[in-house]
Amino acid sequence: MNQEKNYRMTHQREMILEVVQKNHSHLTADEIYDRVRKKLPRISMGTVYRNLDILASCGFIKKLQPGYAQMRFDGNTRDHYHVVCMRCGKIGDAQIEPLDNTLENLENALGNLTSYGIFGHNLEFVGLCPNCMELEKDLPDDQQTNQLMMEVTEDGSQRKPN
Ligand SMILES: [Zn+2]
Ligand SMILES: [Zn+2]
Repeated sequence: MNQEKNYRMTHQREMILEVVQKNHSHLTADEIYDRVRKKLPRISMGTVYRNLDILASCGFIKKLQPGYAQMRFDGNTRDHYHVVCMRCGKIGDAQIEPLDNTLENLENALGNLTSYGIFGHNLEFVGLCPNCMELEKDLPDDQQTNQLMMEVTEDGSQRKPN
């Protein structure tokens, strides 16, 4: 009995892991729940959330830093940067590698300047995703900026277009 229960947990966890790893769109917990439910109709939201936390703490997936409207998870656990859409909040992987220790030098410099022990950095690129770029094209110029500002505020984030 006990074994069966454990097996079921493992199976659920595997399904959840698979959903996160197969999607490169940094799904929110709700989106993951929706997808897992298609395969395991009886799974509860609490189970999905709990397993996401366990998977993240075991290092199978990454919980993205707070600052997004919703908790998001990444199946790619390698160090990498993200590009975020200011309008719809979509997150993509930035296909670049850090160049010639620039950021490492910056960390060292900052360590000296602030007397903090610096252990890493978060770098996020912001812009518009292809979909939102397409929408942007159809708007007259003066509406574009208003729309953009509105979305940025509604999102609850501090990002402002430069
Ligand atoms: Zn977008
Ligand atoms: Zn990512």
